[in-house]
Amino acid sequence: MILAEAFRHFQAGRLSLRYWSGYNMKLHEYQAKEIFSKAGIPTPKGQLITAANQANKATQTVSGPPWVVKAQIHAGGRGKGGGVKVVQSSYDVVVAAESILGKPLVTKQTGDDGVKVNQILIEEGVDIDREFYLGMVVDRATRMPTMIFSQAGGMEIEEVAANTPDLILKEHVNPITGWLPMQAGNLIFKLDPVPPPSVRKGLMTVMANIYKVFLANDCSLVEINPLVTTTDEKVLAVDAKMTIDDNAMYRQKALAELDDPREKDPLELKAEKYGLNYIRLDGSIGAMVNGAGLAMATMDVIKSAGASPANFLDVGGGANEEMISKGFEIILGDRRVKAVLINIFGGILRCDVLARGVLAAAEKKSIRVPLIVRLEGTNVDEGRKILQNSNLKFFVAKDLAEAAELVAQQV
Ligand code: GDP
Ligand code: MN
Repeated sequence: MILAEAFRHFQAGRLSLRYWSGYNMKLHEYQAKEIFSKAGIPTPKGQLITAANQANKATQTVSGPPWVVKAQIHAGGRGKGGGVKVVQSSYDVVVAAESILGKPLVTKQTGDDGVKVNQILIEEGVDIDREFYLGMVVDRATRMPTMIFSQAGGMEIEEVAANTPDLILKEHVNPITGWLPMQAGNLIFKLDPVPPPSVRKGLMTVMANIYKVFLANDCSLVEINPLVTTTDEKVLAVDAKMTIDDNAMYRQKALAELDDPREKDPLELKAEKYGLNYIRLDGSIGAMVNGAGLAMATMDVIKSAGASPANFLDVGGGANEEMISKGFEIILGDRRVKAVLINIFGGILRCDVLARGVLAAAEKKSIRVPLIVRLEGTNVDEGRKILQNSNLKFFVAKDLAEAAELVAQQV
């Protein structure tokens, strides 16, 4: 799954270091802020609402003006996409809530369809003096949790890293000593200008507590962007992002409750249920492949034949007939798919099992797109025979290159 998740972001043109730190369960901003707040990281007070008619009441409990109305979706870049509004009256809170809730929000990270906003956070607005970036990830090279700090906060950290790498400061945390106050000093005294003592103290507290949050919750990423200082010298986490390492979910039962499946693609949810490694992409060629490497290679070949893949689907070596059948159903359930390429190298997964799975799915769902099959390996003759004796129409390719040519001709 790590490979697959990285690949998704690579495809979307936003592969960055953080995605290599694993596949992660994301939390919403309001959920992360609750955890922050309990861990001694100050956040603005706020209230979550799920319907616009709750907005006016929220302004009576949350102090303002100004108020900040914030869409709660997993994708970032909400501010630029119109999902974060700073408003000056309770009337405008209601107007903002109505304009955001229940509608798709498009940001740089969501794709063109956007993501539907089911919940918004109404918060007290703060008077921002400076915006910092503060984050923690595991650095693969040193294999240590690493604090990342920058005075170029509020912007995308990838852009800061690309344009002004000098503004990104790092401190590795030795797990034996833990986070040391001296390390906070290393980061804070490099700021220009160095903040006053009360702000320095606030920053040190947040840094120490971020490390605690990171460890206690098995995070692969904690990020505050921006971490702000206010005109009255307070330090506050205005934004919050937390992702939990999937490998730790077995001991993070309480966090698992915070999962929001509405944020996921329904086809991906279905794939997850059947243990299939599936990622939806933007092209029109559905592909069913066994093995992540072969799946990657198949996508490359589809691309070089002039078409583009609609998905990444690795059914894995141990796939059974039901998994194949569900995988095929998922591919066919994607309305963008104009042709399907089945590329199986039968090893542990036998070609006859594959063929039966495909037929089982075809019986349930009428197939309205051309099928191109390339089978090789264990029980290949039996597999081909099963497909040939069915009333399914398909093209058989002798090798991968021909398969890709065939599939590209269909779209
Ligand atoms: P993101 O765009 O998804 O990262 O959402 P953020 O939570 O980071 O909000 C976007 C921007 O809105 C921040 O960078 C701030 O500049 C601004 N913002 C958020 N809260 C406040 C606030 O309380 N007061 C002011 N003045 N600006 C805010
Ligand atoms: Mn942000």
